[in-house]
Amino acid sequence: MTTRPLLLTGGHLLDPSIGLDGTGDLLLVDGVVAAVGGSIAGPADAIRVDCSGRHVTPGFIDVHCHLREPGREDVETIATGARAAAAGGFTAVCAMPNTDPVTDNQAAVGFIRAQAAKADASRVYPIGAISVGMNGDRLSEMGEMVAAGAVAVSDDGRPVVSAQLMRTALEYARTFGIPVADHCEEPTLAHGGVMNEGIISARLGLKGIPSESEEIMVIRDILLARRTGGRVHLCHMSTWGSVELIRWGKERGIPVTAEVCPHHLTLTEDRVGQYDTNAKMNPPLRTQRDVDALVAALKDGTIDCVATDHAPHHNDEKNREFADAPNGIVGLETALSVLMTWLVAPGTITLSQLVEKMSCAPARVFGLAGGTLRRGAIADVTVLDAAAAWTVQGSDFRSKGRNSPWLGSTLRGRVDRCIVGGRQVHVRDGLA
Ligand SMILES: [Zn+2]
Ligand SMILES: [Zn+2]
Repeated sequence: MTTRPLLLTGGHLLDPSIGLDGTGDLLLVDGVVAAVGGSIAGPADAIRVDCSGRHVTPGFIDVHCHLREPGREDVETIATGARAAAAGGFTAVCAMPNTDPVTDNQAAVGFIRAQAAKADASRVYPIGAISVGMNGDRLSEMGEMVAAGAVAVSDDGRPVVSAQLMRTALEYARTFGIPVADHCEEPTLAHGGVMNEGIISARLGLKGIPSESEEIMVIRDILLARRTGGRVHLCHMSTWGSVELIRWGKERGIPVTAEVCPHHLTLTEDRVGQYDTNAKMNPPLRTQRDVDALVAALKDGTIDCVATDHAPHHNDEKNREFADAPNGIVGLETALSVLMTWLVAPGTITLSQLVEKMSCAPARVFGLAGGTLRRGAIADVTVLDAAAAWTVQGSDFRSKGRNSPWLGSTLRGRVDRCIVGGRQVHVRDGLA
């Protein structure tokens, strides 16, 4: 399929990977960045898009989301997830393998790639399971899955209980050059918990999950990364203690990276006081002290990147009593705006730093194309309106999921366009 060249004119080009921060044009030809910066004439047949008053950034990359297909196509499909990603400015997402059946073999990885190609929206990179069936006892065929296009392995949703299995997984992953994405949860401590353990859980009479449930696995797997040289990527960090342990590991040159979710950067366990099941996630929302430490860790590089942990659920399942409701919220379509509202607007971080955390760093950590507007790079680009204010309405979501704690909130900053391989796969309603 041939695509006409795309010329984005007069936008504020923002790309920390090449130190770009100023007005200029961007030309995308044949799926790559052909020219960047200054005034570009462009070929006669180019589609021209006026981006004045808008920011033009490398496309966002989400290294952690749940697309539910195969198995729960009623909740999300690879196609609806890829469209939700595009609407949120994500030109690429990594799909976790806790589907039904589990993505633990070459054919399953190939299926996800085929569905993503058909969807014709954002790129979807499969993550393969660490263990067969995510049962935690036998390693899956990592090499075959990598050959089929898996970019990492993870048993996300379930901790790898066996330290020996995790050690072997890190050793194998090292030979394939991929990270092991780690769901850090010590199950005997977390057992039966539905929120953060503390004063509020005691008052509400809900069973708590202590911070140590996460931190024990964080330090165990940092030590195993030290032992093996394999790369451990710590998912959805939620506690100040985890931050200190990651800092300890990085100071010693241990190959550890980490991600944090928008909800853990902005919400606390106080939200559970309303028994809102959209405040129920795993790991749970923690305290203000944790939030402050996570924000500081994002700023100083202890935590490498932002990931959504987009986890759509059916309303009927979320509309249960708090203790019985499933964990997780949708996040692809609100991530940018939530972080612009809570972190960029108050001046805690700059928009350029946010682009680093949502695009450049995820590309680096997972070894993916994109994350830069450098000439010759793949033409994955996000155009956003930093000044826009909008109210989150579930009916506007491309995702099938409506389980968001931000429904009804007015947020700052909005994605206008998502460009994948030089083609606009999402243009906000009302724009030409
Ligand atoms: Zn997880
Ligand atoms: Zn997850």
